[in-house]
Parts: sequence; structure tokens; C-alpha cells
Amino acid sequence: MKQNILVYSTLLLITLFYYGCAQNNHSKNNILQPKNIILMIGDGMGLSQITAAMYSKGNGLNLEEAKYIGLIKTNSASSIITDSAAGATAFSTGEKTYNGAINMNIDTLPINPITFNLHENNIKTGIVTSSSVTHATPACFYGNMKNRYDNKELLAQQFISSNVNVLIGGGKKYFNNRSDRINLIDTLKQLNYTIIDSINAPIPSGTEKLINFCAYNEPPSMREGRGEFLAQASMKAIQVLDENNSHGFFLMIEGAQIDWGGHDKDSEYIISETIDFDNTIKHVLEFAKKDRETLVLITADHETGGYGIIDGNILNKSIEADFLSDDHTATMVPIFAFGPGAKDYIGIYHNNEIYKKMLNSFQINKP
Ligand code: MG
Ligand code: ZN
Repeated sequence: MKQNILVYSTLLLITLFYYGCAQNNHSKNNILQPKNIILMIGDGMGLSQITAAMYSKGNGLNLEEAKYIGLIKTNSASSIITDSAAGATAFSTGEKTYNGAINMNIDTLPINPITFNLHENNIKTGIVTSSSVTHATPACFYGNMKNRYDNKELLAQQFISSNVNVLIGGGKKYFNNRSDRINLIDTLKQLNYTIIDSINAPIPSGTEKLINFCAYNEPPSMREGRGEFLAQASMKAIQVLDENNSHGFFLMIEGAQIDWGGHDKDSEYIISETIDFDNTIKHVLEFAKKDRETLVLITADHETGGYGIIDGNILNKSIEADFLSDDHTATMVPIFAFGPGAKDYIGIYHNNEIYKKMLNSFQINKP
């Protein structure tokens, strides 16, 4: 009898032990795999841009919270120096292509952006930018075009059939002042998009699709008074994408005008736009820390300007800079990762690997 009790209690203990292990593994998996991914692209944001913003701000940047860091090789299929279209196509499709291509392969055949594939997997998607929404970087998350400059009205048309849940940025004119006289804003309303005229406007709970055009053409720069728009737009997008969502979301947030400062060889322009992008990072990381299921990736499509810091004063927070070019350069750009799965993004690799890594993080097979 005593022996029986011993055998039964040993079996019970073994069962409890394995049950405990299974529970543990399950929760470990949850922590290792993100439910949501926020991809933040600082257009033209190389290491010098980040460094200049860091010393100008005086006390470090929010992106320094990301402990997993890598370097990205940015070359396109056609050149050692990429443009933003080929750069974003690499992120969105996993394919290196020729400069100017929006989700077209080297044979000029269309490739689906990542948002299509994610939609098929019930993952909600959103796009936030401080440029017009038809600019190369955001367009690579919904459209296809042989050349980025060909037809921005057609890109706006393509957004309509994209199934992307949230679109925030400038470029309203491509939707409501078109050569074909079609008002795509009416079409968006028919497709149940909530359209807000101000980024601070309250939105009804249960809103699943949101549009805000912050400018008729290109949004103003920080120096021209854009204010907290990028951070507010990002939080609004997260609010809509995260509400009642058990399948997860993907959000691309672009700091678009860091690049424009580089093209203008304007150091103050670069610094103010990079600090604005970093302020947006602060808000995004606050959400991610609370949420604990969101992977945040912060990177760039390329460096712009051959920007270099040649002197400065830490106490005065002043930077003296110079430029090698008024265009993009081939220097590698950093990637900073924060949250579940972040360690998969360390190392040195090509820009199109990010696409494959993101699908892996979402546990989705390449289509
Ligand atoms: Mg851009
Ligand atoms: Zn550029």
C-alpha cells in the first residue's frame, strides 16, 4: 500500500513538472515573438545625422534605449548608391531592384508589398510619414510603379485597393484635385475610412481605418512649424491599429525630411528633423514598453549628403558640419531593435534581409 502511494505521488510530481515546463515554454515563446512590428525609417539618417542630433540635444537620444544594433548594406540592384524607392522596395518586398522602382523587380514586373501579405494573415497595417503619402518611401508600402516620378495620382489610386488600414501624411491633392476629376476622398469614405482633418481630432472607438492628410502638398519642415505632428500621428495610428486586435499590426513610420536637409546641405535642417524623429521614437518606445508584444525597428534607407561633423562644442550643443555631396551616399546605415525578437536584427547584412527577418518575426512564410 505504502509503495503504491509512493508510485502515484512520484507520477503526479513528474506530470506536474512537465506541465510546468510546457507552460514555461509557451510563455517564453510569447515573449520571443512579437505580435506587432513598428518599422521606423529615418530617410537619409546615417550615423553622423544621429550623432549631430545627439550632441545638439545635449543629453542623448531615445533610440539609445535599443540595445540590439546592426548595420545595413544599402546598395540597390542598379547602383552602389540607392535611392529611397529601391531602398524601401527592399524593406517591403525583400528584393533589391533598380533605383526609382516602387515595388517592381529588375525586370519591371510588380512585386507585392509586405502589407498585402500581412493583410492576408489578418495583420493590420499602417503608414505614417512627414512627406506626402505618394512619396517613394510610403508608396513602397502599398503601390507599384516603374518609376517613382511617373504618376503620383496613380499611386493614390493604388492606395484605394491596398487594404492598408491607416494612412497619415501630406499630399491631399493627389486624392482630391486630380486630372481625372475623381474625388478619391469620397471613395475612401465609401470604403469606411474615418477621415480626420486634424491629427488631434478625437476618433470614435471602433475605428478600424483612418486617414489624415496634414498638407495639400508636402508637409512643412520642423523649422516651418510642423510641431509634434509625427509623434501625434504615430500614436494615433497605433491607437487605431491596436484596438481590439488579436492578430497584431505592422506600422511604418517615416521621418522623411532628414533626407531633404541632406540634399539641401543644411545641417540645422538635418538636426531638427532627426530630433523630431527621435521624439517620435520616445512615444513609440513608451507604447512598446507597456505593450511588451511590439518589436520596434529603427533604421534608414541610406545616408544623405556625405554629412560629417568636423567641429563643434558639447557644452554649447553646437555642431560644425560639412558635406561631400548633395545626394545619397553608399555608407552603411544602422538599425536599432527594441522588444521581442530584437536580437534577430544584430549583425551586418543587406537591406532586403530586413523583409525576411520581419516575416520571420511574425512567423509568416514568404509567399
Ligand atoms: Mg522618403
Ligand atoms: Zn533623398
